[in-house]
Amino acid sequence: MIDTHCHLEMEPFDADREDVIKRAKDAGLEAVITIGSDFEGSKGAVELAGKYDFVYASVGIHPHDAKDFNEDVFRQITEWTKNPKVVAIGETGLDYHYDHSPRDVQRDAFIKQLSYAVESGVPAIIHSREAKEDTLRILEESRVSKGVLHCFSGDMETAERAMEMGLYISFAGTVTFKKALQIQKIAKVIPDEYLLIETDAPYLAPEPFRGKRNEPAFVKHTAEFIAKLRGVSTEDIDRITTLNAKRLFGIGDMPGMGEIAYKIRESLYLNITNRCTSKCSFCIKFHSDFVKGHNLRLAGEPSADELKSAIGDPALYQEVVFCGYGEPLLRLDAVKEVASWIKEKGGKVRINTNGHGNLIHKRNILPELQGLVDSISISLDAHDEKTYNKICNPAFKNAFNEVVNFIKEAKKSIPEVTATVVTAEGVDVDKCKEIADFLGVKLRVRRLDVVG
Ligand code: SF4
Repeated sequence: MIDTHCHLEMEPFDADREDVIKRAKDAGLEAVITIGSDFEGSKGAVELAGKYDFVYASVGIHPHDAKDFNEDVFRQITEWTKNPKVVAIGETGLDYHYDHSPRDVQRDAFIKQLSYAVESGVPAIIHSREAKEDTLRILEESRVSKGVLHCFSGDMETAERAMEMGLYISFAGTVTFKKALQIQKIAKVIPDEYLLIETDAPYLAPEPFRGKRNEPAFVKHTAEFIAKLRGVSTEDIDRITTLNAKRLFGIGDMPGMGEIAYKIRESLYLNITNRCTSKCSFCIKFHSDFVKGHNLRLAGEPSADELKSAIGDPALYQEVVFCGYGEPLLRLDAVKEVASWIKEKGGKVRINTNGHGNLIHKRNILPELQGLVDSISISLDAHDEKTYNKICNPAFKNAFNEVVNFIKEAKKSIPEVTATVVTAEGVDVDKCKEIADFLGVKLRVRRLDVVG
């Protein structure tokens, strides 16, 4: 876990800074980023980052202190960013709630710092309070694409426009507050690849420490809360947000290439191929190597033995799922061998497939899976052939009708069959439901931007 926004250089930590850092490490944090918000704070942040490997710094002038922003301060900020431990510019932005600096002065300081961030390729850490329109306008005009809206307190439109620019959305302890229903609603649906967490320590301690001095170790309470909101494990949120922090700020080691077995919630997923007989317009593999913080870009396809050793004890998981960045039934023999081994060891097997198995192998393969597979999720993905072809770009003619037949045949051999559909543009989910009802299977509707 990485606390992407705290103020460790501030006076409330003077008495016990060493202990605070130790507690953060003991809580399992990999790093913290301490954020300068005025000249002295930025200087202190750089000094702390120089003293501790574990600490990185950001330098900038907060909108409250924009009145003190001048050419000398700006020059010093640009100098500090040459230090490899300085990983961002900010926090900068607009705060029309307190108006500690005149609004035009805040805007000038924001624009200047943002322009430098864009020009130098350093991510920007953005503070925005009650200043939605000006913040979004300045961000859009700046063409910034690397940065984060920290301690997010805006609405869904703000989050969406920020993500369109490529910006991350970071949640602080405020998301855990009972009355923070709007922030919670947004934290629940932000796609994995835009999600960050932070403490903003010493401010805004999460529940159950609300009102006390905050510190980086408490970020795990925010992670736990967001995990519950999103129906995933804290481990998933830890992995996703740590990866995002590393990618945005360029710190720490990135996960190695292509994991072949990875855990999401209580299930183990097997990434057995990156080949596929579709090219779905919504497929995540065309714009990211990662699902829920796992790198799925394989260097080569794992053998059945490699898969077994990556699984370990299959009975430890709710189910073992054959999927990946491709179509698992392209590797039917490996699926059958490993599925049979999983069943012998007392595990449960699911396959996520695009339903092209019979087209690929030119025979009905479903009876071969009988007794080996407990459940199968088949991508129906559209309500008719024309829409299917447009969205999925299948390698076969007549693929849509063959997918429908595959679902029909699956019912004869596999105990639990689910058809799935992604809410892509042009897809009539009600008609997909009618098809699923007619076939006598459940329909699972997946939001376009939620994978895994
Ligand atoms: S079937 Fe799955 S892996 Fe293949 S392109 Fe579509 S979404 Fe991607």
